[in-house]
Amino acid sequence: MLFLVNQICSDSGCLSRARLFAQAKEHGTLVRSEHTSCPNCQTKQEDASHLLHCPDAGRFSLFRTEVKKLEEWLCKSHTDPELSRILPLYILRRGESNLSEIQYLSRDLQPFAFEQDLIGWDNFMIGQISGQLRQYQYVHLLNSPSIMSVDDWMAAFIGKLLHIVHGQWIYRNVSKHHEKLGSIRRAERRELLMEIDRLIHVRPEEVPEESTFLLEVDFARLRKGELTSQNYWVHAIKAAMVAGRRRTFGTSPRRGADS
Ligand SMILES: [Zn+2]
Repeated sequence: MLFLVNQICSDSGCLSRARLFAQAKEHGTLVRSEHTSCPNCQTKQEDASHLLHCPDAGRFSLFRTEVKKLEEWLCKSHTDPELSRILPLYILRRGESNLSEIQYLSRDLQPFAFEQDLIGWDNFMIGQISGQLRQYQYVHLLNSPSIMSVDDWMAAFIGKLLHIVHGQWIYRNVSKHHEKLGSIRRAERRELLMEIDRLIHVRPEEVPEESTFLLEVDFARLRKGELTSQNYWVHAIKAAMVAGRRRTFGTSPRRGADS
């Protein structure tokens, strides 16, 4: 039996099925629609499944941190001790090995492990969990001093899983934002360099005498310099050319003459 997210109670403070699936689908659909490379590991054709399998060290470090928090929650939430041991291990393997392959798995947990292996790790992370887990934890809670119901436990557990997925999504989006900013800056720099290469050929007689020092700059150094210095020089030389034309012709420059 498959314990789906929609079997979690949707009232009494539990996460609703709609919200959980909306989050999970959002992660997949948006990544799929962009068809771009991963901003962290540069894998081409980043698809939905890449979100939880990115090999980038920063992404995995965040993943590990979040799994550690989940592990702490399991320990303090009256979770069966064996589940507390195997669930973080299973999550950290990111689908590279089956749940049933975890060492020292007890015979009692094998039905859960085999069923979950059929459902898959990626589905597990978005809340598609074998009903055997609920049953196993239910028996444990019955024999514990906890007043938590098994449905509340399942809802909280799936919420923690989705939090891990969401963390990866946020990390990825922040990286993408910085990547876009970087590419805008690179485009600005390319345009400025083209402008500098064009203005290098301005002759001294085209600018007022007091501005000729602008033509004495070390162009090789200017090309390698800061964006601000390059911008300053380009604007200064353009202003000097306009002033030069005014002096020569004694009139305002023609429209577009300074471009
Ligand atoms: Zn990646």
